[in-house]
Amino acid sequence: MANNDDALRAMQNCFRSQFSVDEAEYEDIEKNRRTSSVDEDSIYLGCTLSRSFKPEDSDFHHSPVIKMGWLDKTPPQGTLIFQKRWVMLDEQYLRYFQNEKEVYSKRVIAIPSVTEVVNVGGQKFEVVTRNRTFLFRAENNTVREEWVSVLKETIQQCRNSMDMSHMNFSDTSGQRASGVSLISKQGYLEMIGLRSKLYVVICSDRVFLYRNAEEHSHGVGITSIEMNLGTVKSTDKRSFNLTTFYRTFSFVAESEQQMGQWVEALQACVSRSLSSNVVAQKIWAEEANQRCADCGATYPDWASVNLCVVLCKCCAGVHRGLGQSVSKVRSLKMDEKVWTENLNQLFLLLGNDRVNLFWAANMPPSEMLCPSSDSEERQRFVTAKYCQGKYRRYHALFGQEEALNKALCNTIQTGDVLETLSLVFCGADVNCYTGDPELPSPVSMAQHYGQTLQVEFLTHNHNTELPGSRAGDHTVLEAALPVSHTGYLFKTASSTRAVTERKSKGDFSRRWCSLNQGNFSYYESEKSSSQSGQMKMSDVLCLVVNPQGKHGYGHSFELYHDSGRVYLFGEDSPDTVREWIKAIGKALVPPVGEDLVCWSFERVGRLRYTAGQSFHCPHLGWFSLGGSRLLLLLHGEDQVDNIDLRKLQELSVQQEAGAVVLVNRGRRLHVEWDRRPDFQGWLSGIQQGLGRGDSPLDQQQLTETDVPVIVDRCISYITQHGLKSEGIYRRCGVNSKITALLLSLRHDARQVRLSEGEDQVDNVANVLKRFLREVGEGVFNGHQASLPWLHTTTVSEMRERVSKYQALLHSLPPVNRATLGAVINHLYCVQCFADENQMNMHNLAIVFGPTLFQTDGTDNSVGQVVEELIQNYQDIFNVDAEQLQRQLDMISHVIKAQEEHAEEGTPSPLTICGVYLERKEEGSELLVQISQAVSAEELVCEVLRRGNIPPQQGDYWSCFLVNDNQEMERPLHYQERALAIYFSLGKDCHLVVKRNCYMEAMLIYIAGKVDVSRNGLIKFSDEKGQKGKRTFSRRLCVLDGTSLRLYKGVKSTQPERECPVHALKVYYGIKKRLQPPSCWGMTVVCEQAERDKQLWYLCCESENELIEWLATFMNLQHDGDLWPAASRPDS
Ligand SMILES: [Zn+2]
Repeated sequence: MANNDDALRAMQNCFRSQFSVDEAEYEDIEKNRRTSSVDEDSIYLGCTLSRSFKPEDSDFHHSPVIKMGWLDKTPPQGTLIFQKRWVMLDEQYLRYFQNEKEVYSKRVIAIPSVTEVVNVGGQKFEVVTRNRTFLFRAENNTVREEWVSVLKETIQQCRNSMDMSHMNFSDTSGQRASGVSLISKQGYLEMIGLRSKLYVVICSDRVFLYRNAEEHSHGVGITSIEMNLGTVKSTDKRSFNLTTFYRTFSFVAESEQQMGQWVEALQACVSRSLSSNVVAQKIWAEEANQRCADCGATYPDWASVNLCVVLCKCCAGVHRGLGQSVSKVRSLKMDEKVWTENLNQLFLLLGNDRVNLFWAANMPPSEMLCPSSDSEERQRFVTAKYCQGKYRRYHALFGQEEALNKALCNTIQTGDVLETLSLVFCGADVNCYTGDPELPSPVSMAQHYGQTLQVEFLTHNHNTELPGSRAGDHTVLEAALPVSHTGYLFKTASSTRAVTERKSKGDFSRRWCSLNQGNFSYYESEKSSSQSGQMKMSDVLCLVVNPQGKHGYGHSFELYHDSGRVYLFGEDSPDTVREWIKAIGKALVPPVGEDLVCWSFERVGRLRYTAGQSFHCPHLGWFSLGGSRLLLLLHGEDQVDNIDLRKLQELSVQQEAGAVVLVNRGRRLHVEWDRRPDFQGWLSGIQQGLGRGDSPLDQQQLTETDVPVIVDRCISYITQHGLKSEGIYRRCGVNSKITALLLSLRHDARQVRLSEGEDQVDNVANVLKRFLREVGEGVFNGHQASLPWLHTTTVSEMRERVSKYQALLHSLPPVNRATLGAVINHLYCVQCFADENQMNMHNLAIVFGPTLFQTDGTDNSVGQVVEELIQNYQDIFNVDAEQLQRQLDMISHVIKAQEEHAEEGTPSPLTICGVYLERKEEGSELLVQISQAVSAEELVCEVLRRGNIPPQQGDYWSCFLVNDNQEMERPLHYQERALAIYFSLGKDCHLVVKRNCYMEAMLIYIAGKVDVSRNGLIKFSDEKGQKGKRTFSRRLCVLDGTSLRLYKGVKSTQPERECPVHALKVYYGIKKRLQPPSCWGMTVVCEQAERDKQLWYLCCESENELIEWLATFMNLQHDGDLWPAASRPDS
C-alpha cells in the first residue's frame, strides 16, 4: 500500500503543473532577446517518474539511447560550480536532466547543431554549438573518453547520413532541403506561472520548448514533449491545457483565434504520435523515408516491400491496385510482423531517395506527383513508374538477359542491394541458375556469402512482374513476327521533331539497312562491319508513310523512336519503299495485329489509352490510320477493330486532361496525350479523317447508314416540321440565313442544332438543295457517271427503265447510293402530303432534277429521272412496302402529336414515344409504341430489338432522361414507368437508350457495402447566388436512409440544406456554365413540394467518388434493387 501512496503522490506532483525556475542554470542573457523575457537558461519542469523509468523504452524515445550517465555540468560564466546532471545521448539529441527520474530535460541539444566536442583538462570536455558551449566533467578520464568518443562518433554518423537532422533544430527556416516542413506550428506562447513567453514548436509528433526563436534556430532547446497519450483542451478564451501522462502544461495564446489554431495543431500532433509505432519510427530513421517515394507526402506509413519504397496511404492504395505481382504493399503500422529486422535494415540501407535514383531517374518534372495530386494522376504516375518502368534508369546491360543474370550473381555476393534492385527490375532473373551446383539459386548464393539483406530483397521479388511486361505491354516488347529485310535506303540525320520541311536529295545519305530479329540497323555500306546506328523495333513508336513527292526522294517514310527522335528514310523506287514499309510494319505490331499493316495505311504505331470501366488503368493499343479509317487493336483483344472516322460521334481534344477523346458507337476511348513528336501527327491525321462539309460526299461526316450528316439533319428537320408546309422546297427562304446555316453545318454538322420556327423550314429546305447542288462530284458521282442516268429516259419501257436505274444505283459508290436513297425516300414522303404542301412528284422533280444533277435546268431529262425515281421508289430502291407504310404512319403520328400539342398546349395522350438509340441524332430516333404500364426496362428491350442490338453480357443498357440545356442526364430506374416520364419531358429533354457505363461499378460498390449510408466532403453550389460566376465550396454531405444533408463544416450541428431521399432526382453532370471544379459532377433535383424545386450541384474529386455517391443514392432510393436480377429476355 505504501507503494501505491508513493505513486499517487508522485502523480499529484506531476499534475500540479508547478515548476520553478532553476536559478542555478542562470546564464548570460544572449543578445537579441527582444522577443523573449525568459532570463533563465532553462526552466525546471519538475516532474519525476513515479515508477522506475527505463529510458531505453521506445515509448519515450524515438531513437534508442546510445549512452547515459551522471556528469557534472557547469553553469555558465565559468563559475566552476559543478552540478550533477543526468545526461542522455541518442542519435538525434544530447540532453540533460535534473536527475535520472526526470521526464523533461533541462536542455536538449540537437546533434547536428554540435560543431565540436573538445577534451579539456581535468576530466572535462566541451560540447560546442554555434551559439554556446556546454562544459561537462566526468568522474574520471575513462568515463570522459567514453563520452567524447561516443559523442564524436554519433556526430560523424549524423553527418554521414544523407540529411543533417531528424528534427530541424539546426534549420532556421523550418524548411528542409526537400522543401517539406515537419513543423506544423511554431510561435510564442505564454506559459502560466512563468514570467516570460516560450517559443513553442510543434514538429511532427512532438512539441519542443525553446526560450526564444533564436534558440530554435540554433538547435538548442529546453525540452521536448512526447505527445502520445496527450490531451489538449481549451480552458478559456485564450488559454488551453496540454496534458501528458506526466504533467499539465497551461498555455495562453495571443488571441482566441491563435488559441484555436494551437489546439488544432496540437491535437493533430497527438494523433500523429498515436499512430506512429515502433516500425514506422525505425523506418523513418532514414530521413528520405519520411516522405512518400511517389508523391512526397510526409510520414508515409505504408511501403511496398518488394519495390523497396515507403509510401503514403493514397499512393499505397494505388500500388495495391496494381496487384501483388507488381507491388507488395504492407503497412508500417498494422503489418508489424512483416517487418523483420532484416527488412527494416533493407529499408534503411536503401531509403526512398536512393531507390528513386533508380525508379525515377528519368522522370520529367512535369509528370511529378505532389501530395495533393488527385487519384487519377496518382494512378497514371504509379502505373507508369512501376508497371511500365517508364522513369527507371536503364541498366547498361538492359536487354541482355544472360549478362544481366551473370551480373546479378556477382552483385548478390556484395552488399550493393541497390545494384541488385536495378538489375532485377531491368530484367535479371531472380530465379536464374547461378552455374554453381552447390549454390544453384541467387538466394542460396547470397545466403552463402552472408548477404542477408540481398536475401531479403530477393525473397520479396521471387515472382515479381517485370516493369513493361504486363499483359497489355507485353505485346510491345514481343514483336513475334519473324521478319528480316535488307537493302539500301537513303537516310537523313535524325531530328527531335516531326519533319515538316522538304528534304532535298542532298540531305540524304545512302545507307545499307538491315531489319533482323526486331532490330533495325544501318551501315555505311554493305561491307561495313560496324553499324552506324541501330534501333530496336520495340522502341519504335510509330511508322509514318509520307505522301509521294514530299521529299527529294519520291517515296519516304519516318520512324518515331521512343526517345523522341525521328528518322527519315527515302528512295525513288516505290516498290523498294513499299517492301520496307511492309517489313517494318510487320516487325512493329504484335502478331494478332497483322491486319493493322496489311492495307495502305499512312501511319501505324502504339498509343496509350483508357476506355470503359478500366478508366483508371491505361493500356497500350495499336493503331493504324489511313484516310478516314482508323484500325485498332486494343488491350486484351485478339482482333483488329475498325473505326470509320466519318461516323465518329465525337472527337474532343482535352488538352488539360491530357487526352483526346474518341466516341464511336457510344464507346469512349481516351487516348493519352503524349509529348513525343508522333502524337501531333496522329491527332491531325484523325482530324482530317473526320470528314468535312466542303468535301465530296464520301469525305463528309456520315451517319451510321452512310448518309452525310448534313443531309440527314435537313431531311429529319423537314420531316418533322415541313411536310405540311405549302410549297416546301420551292420557296426560297432568307439567303443570308441559308448561307450562314450551311456554313455552320459544313464546319461541323454534328454540333448544329436546327431550331424550330416557321420560316426556318424554308431555310433548311434550301440548305439541303444548295448542299446537294454544290457538293463535289454530286450525288451521281460526276458528270460522266450521270450521263447514263439521263440516257435511261430514252428507253421506252418503264419496266426496263426501272431495271436500268437499279443497275446504275448499284454502280454508285456506297455513300452516293445511300445519299440518293435517303433523298428519294424523303421526296417520296413529301409528295405523300401533296394535298397540304402542294408538292407532288412532278413539282419536286422540277426542283430536285437540276439540284441532284447539278445542271442549270435546261435539260428536261434531269427532272424526268428524279420523277421516275420517286415514282418507282419502292422498286428501284428495293423497299419493303410494309416498312414504308410504317414510316409514313409514324410521320403522321408525329405531325398529329405536334399539332395537338400546339393547339392544346398540353401533352397529347400519345402511345407512340420517340426514343433515341445511343445518342440524339437525326436518324437515331425510333418511334416506339408503348402503353402506360411499360417499364423503362421494357422500353429498353424494345428499342434494342428495333435497333438490332442483341443484348450482351456486361452491357448495361439504360433509358436515360437527357436534358440538353442543363447538360445533365439521369438513367431511369428499370422499374420506372416510361410513358409518364415521356409525358413529363420538357422541351430540351429527350429519352436516349444507351449503355450505362457506371452501372457495373455501382453494383460492385453496393455489393461490397454493409452500411448503406455515406458521408464525405463534396464541392457544392446551388441555383441561387449571383448570376454569372458561381463558386463551389466544400460541404460535408451526409446521405442516409432518411435524407440528404449538407453541412457547412464538420462541426456544424445544423444542416445547411436537407432534402428527404424520396424527393431527390439525381442526374449525372453539371452544366458547364457553372464552371464545376471537376468533370465528376451530379445535379440533384430536390422537389419537396410542387412549387419548391431546387437544383443542387455536387462535384466530386474523382470518378470513383462520383460512382460511389450515385450508387448510394440509387441504393437508398430503390432499396438495393438497382438492376433486374434476371438478365433481359431476348425479345
Ligand atoms: Zn504518396
